[in-house]
Amino acid sequence: MTPQSPAHQNSSLDAALLECRERYAAKRPQSAALNREAIKVLPGGNTRTVLAYAPFPTAMARGEGCRLWDVDDNTYLDLCGEYTAGLFGHSDSRIRAALHDALARGLSLAAVGEAEQRFARILCSRFRSIDMIRFTNSGTEANLIALSVAQVVTGRSRIIAFRGGYHGSLLYYPATGSSPITAPFPVTLCDYNDTDGTVAAIRSAAGELAAVIVEPMLGSGGCIAAEPTFLAAIAEAARGVGAISIFDEVMTSRMSEGGLQERLGILPDMTTLGKYIGGGMSFGAFGGRRDIMELFVSKVPHAGTFNNNVMSMAAGITAMGEVFTAAEAADLFALGEGLRDELNVMSDKAGAPLQFCGLGSLATAHFRRDQINRPYAITPREEALKELFFFDMLNAGVYIARRGMTALSLPTTERDLVQFKTAVSDFLDARAPLLR
Ligand code: PLP
Repeated sequence: MTPQSPAHQNSSLDAALLECRERYAAKRPQSAALNREAIKVLPGGNTRTVLAYAPFPTAMARGEGCRLWDVDDNTYLDLCGEYTAGLFGHSDSRIRAALHDALARGLSLAAVGEAEQRFARILCSRFRSIDMIRFTNSGTEANLIALSVAQVVTGRSRIIAFRGGYHGSLLYYPATGSSPITAPFPVTLCDYNDTDGTVAAIRSAAGELAAVIVEPMLGSGGCIAAEPTFLAAIAEAARGVGAISIFDEVMTSRMSEGGLQERLGILPDMTTLGKYIGGGMSFGAFGGRRDIMELFVSKVPHAGTFNNNVMSMAAGITAMGEVFTAAEAADLFALGEGLRDELNVMSDKAGAPLQFCGLGSLATAHFRRDQINRPYAITPREEALKELFFFDMLNAGVYIARRGMTALSLPTTERDLVQFKTAVSDFLDARAPLLR
């Protein structure tokens, strides 16, 4: 086994990972103790699969601005950004004031109020494809209902989705294999960014196709952006066969005042929203063409105890009406583009098999050099490097998603990002022998 041989590299990688996990555990005795108790009542010790990883997940105690403190009092720059729902950071004073004000007026009023129509007006005026909107409590629910109403409108049942697409816990189409709890829509899966293949699939399913659902950038699938021509072609092909195009902008709506669709100038029939739009409270929404949405006037029932809950409405009005302005959206996009460019230049210079895919304030680290335009089957070595990267970032005080994703929040400044750039640069130096 020579030092350069793949077998030698793999055993060095295993050793490095072992050391990282031990170092991680040693710095987090309280997180470990919490996990030991949690697994007795929560399967896997959590109630949200994305937060589970070996040897045990870091438990957070509090957050402020773009900083987090874990239960062992380790401090982090928060670049996980609550998987994009934490756009406002942890303590925006305007959102807090709105929540205090709503609390003072009482919870659970069991009635319509002024708040939901104000919030609806704000969102309809921001998203050009949304003439009318309805609220839910999660992005999952929003997508389930958007797909279901597309079935009602068209009188057809089949949907087209994409390998690697994630539209919620019941609408997950992994790049390889399948989820055992996917909602039972008859689905045809296509390859992301495969324009010809998708247009052909749309045409061949024409008579039975209700909807095509697509993320304008795959979020949990690796921050892989759609080619604008691909998005435009599928929206047009769907229209051509009388099917409904649904852009799932649960993650990507942050890319401009009116979402990624506005930035690209490509509008779908329906749009789904979620994550940060409720100002940090639970949120989901679906909206679109007036003729579709008016089905909810009498033909289609849509209930949900918490759809207009006072906290989400109050926080959302302030978040989207005052805080996340068009200018803030543009600045955040530019901050993220600059960061990703710098990280990619660094990785290139180091000759490392590492690239950061994404758009604006969202990015994911991929441990391969080839251009990536769709999800792929990750190799064990890539997975090990991803884990090593995660632990090295945590050790440098930078909290990122275990899958290598980063989502910037509004309180984050260029100065804060120096810590991340230094951590990546140190990773490239320290791990150079494993990255060759
Ligand atoms: N759609 C996309 C693109 C998402 O990324 C997510 C969540 O990560 C969802 C839908 C589901 O949203 P929620 O977790 O609020 O159900």
